[in-house]
Amino acid sequence: MIPMEGKVVRKGIYAECRDKIVRYSEQFGRAPGLAVLMVGDNEASGSYVHSKELAAKKLGIASELVRLPAESSEAEVLREVRRLNLDERYDGVLIQLPLPKTLDAWCILDYLDPGKDVDGFHPVNLGKLVIQREGVIPCTPYGILRMLEHYQIPLAGKQALVLGRSFIVGRPMASLLLNRHATVTVCHSRTTDLADQISRADIVVAAVGKAGMVTAEMVKPGAVLIDVGINHISRLEEAQRLCLPDELDRFEERGYAITGDIHPKAFEKASYYTPVPGGVGMMTVAMLMVNTLTLYERHMGVKGA
Ligand code: NDP
Repeated sequence: MIPMEGKVVRKGIYAECRDKIVRYSEQFGRAPGLAVLMVGDNEASGSYVHSKELAAKKLGIASELVRLPAESSEAEVLREVRRLNLDERYDGVLIQLPLPKTLDAWCILDYLDPGKDVDGFHPVNLGKLVIQREGVIPCTPYGILRMLEHYQIPLAGKQALVLGRSFIVGRPMASLLLNRHATVTVCHSRTTDLADQISRADIVVAAVGKAGMVTAEMVKPGAVLIDVGINHISRLEEAQRLCLPDELDRFEERGYAITGDIHPKAFEKASYYTPVPGGVGMMTVAMLMVNTLTLYERHMGVKGA
């Protein structure tokens, strides 16, 4: 069982981005630009936004956080999106989700310029992914793909199972795997034979949000286990049952721990697995930086971008 370390993969990606950004900034006279639009002050979103700003700063990407009050009307948010669509300083625009419940997220995402949609959630980009045309790939599935490539996991002809069908993770992940010639099964809350399906899979991507739901008994020996889930555990007995040893130590310090959707005992049967934390989660922000750079390259007319 070999852990696929997000930090290791991310390091290589960041080094490559940094080199390009230094070179391009000289050549084109400006750095790539990223605008993050945040409506309201959701605490979890705030910490994600902070990590995005830190990463951008580290790489020399000019990032700006644009905040609107939670009670903003749809028209006010759309006006801001339009302004960011037109502002040439920004190659990428990100609308931080979730939006307040009073707003229609799809309507707002639809309004974003697909050529600036750095998260890849605009219907045009999701559609391009399905028909294998060049667009923008959503960051979490893209990060998983880069991890699979880094660890040279063969995909063609493999049985891949994606657990979860959200437009952020499950669906684009299934398309990416299909585009790499895996035979893909997508499972969800209405799947009736989940354990059977998992037992046949060479690669399992779990993106549900239910701690430890994929157990050791379900997985095929030697399978590749990709754990996307992020679950907060606040009871010690649960942490002892569901968390990896390092994270259990952190429970003592912080009073909570993080775990994924795959039970740690299942990792013992795997050939490769992504730990939680330290696996997929490390890649999402990194791929946001990659997408920002790719959009910049396209705006600057760099060949092959
Ligand atoms: P959603 O809640 O949007 O989707 C969850 C999916 O799981 C749905 O398709 C749902 O099925 C399915 N599901 C729910 N219960 C079951 C069940 N008992 N058996 C099988 N399938 C089930 O979540 P997201 O896709 O946004 O996120 C999934 C997890 O990944 C979360 O823990 C989230 O925090 C984490 N995440 C991690 C990221 C990272 O960077 N590491 C980034 C994004 C998400 P149905 O469609 O039928 O309702």
